[in-house]
Amino acid sequence: MKKVLITGAAGFLGSHLCDRFIKEGYHVIGMDNLITGDLKNIEHLFKLKNFEFYDHDVSKFVHIPGNLDYILHFASPASPIDYLKIPIQTLKVGSLGTHNLLGLAKEKKSRILIASTSEVYGDPLVHPQTEDYYGNVNTIGPRGVYDEAKRFQESITMAYHTYHKVETRIVRIFNTYGPRMRLNDGRVVPAFIGQALRGEDLTVFGEGLQTRSFCYVDDLIEGIYRLLFSDYVYPVNVGNPNEITIKDFAEEIIKLTGTDQKVIYKPLPVNDPLQRQPDITRAKEILGWQPEVDRSEGMRRTLEYFKGLSQEELYRSEHKDFSSYS
Ligand code: UDP
Repeated sequence: MKKVLITGAAGFLGSHLCDRFIKEGYHVIGMDNLITGDLKNIEHLFKLKNFEFYDHDVSKFVHIPGNLDYILHFASPASPIDYLKIPIQTLKVGSLGTHNLLGLAKEKKSRILIASTSEVYGDPLVHPQTEDYYGNVNTIGPRGVYDEAKRFQESITMAYHTYHKVETRIVRIFNTYGPRMRLNDGRVVPAFIGQALRGEDLTVFGEGLQTRSFCYVDDLIEGIYRLLFSDYVYPVNVGNPNEITIKDFAEEIIKLTGTDQKVIYKPLPVNDPLQRQPDITRAKEILGWQPEVDRSEGMRRTLEYFKGLSQEELYRSEHKDFSSYS
């Protein structure tokens, strides 16, 4: 049985990847330090013989006994408010964590896929974003800790590929949504759905004219799976090019939830990108991939998930104490 290590296994994308690799018949080792992940996302896997879990911070030395065929590095805080709360950990998991996992891949002769991000393009001046655009990032802004860690991550990954001949893959992930997003992680999809379900007004930042392009999680996982098994080593954008302003998105959610909430306006966070849309020509050509789930269907499935949360979960505000994480 082939063995795969998935870091960030208890998180949104990591847990969906665990499900996919279990379904494909792999032995899956999930790793997470649970700083932003939640064991609830993978508790259904604990009873399986071909699933193991390590509570470990990948920015410290990573040891896995025996052979290891694949590594998928998905451990990282992934929401702008998390970067503000835990900036050092965000930098460390993208840089030191990636270094450790590349070292592990070299040692075990594993193929490694690294989760990069559309944030490497920063507040992009090229639209839509193609992989050969170098980006427009403020290194010292609030998002810099994430963006620069991910940019470093791409560089060290290419260096391990060219210098150590490690088999590497890099996916640049654009805004993705679906079941298991953290209700209070501050990102727009859980924020708006949570507000609508609690009967609160929807908080649009700025004038809401900034755009995003939202990809349903199943589509993203399929793109990542195909990239891992392709022979392409350069970064590939994976996302849904269907672009919408945040203001229109808020209206869509009000319609979808059938609530009569209003939209209220709050200040735009610093360095919030004005526009974002993936050019997926490369993914189409190399992976034969394109998204299949449109936003109305994806949002319907996502709403079902959030409706299934308990009242306690829906109203719980997050007061996690991060001080025990170094
Ligand atoms: N946003 C918003 N209201 C919220 C949360 C987010 O208007 O309650 C906006 C945010 O300013 C950004 C967009 O929604 O322009 C997407 O934000 P998110 O945090 O989901 O991810 P980003 O794409 O900025 O990393």
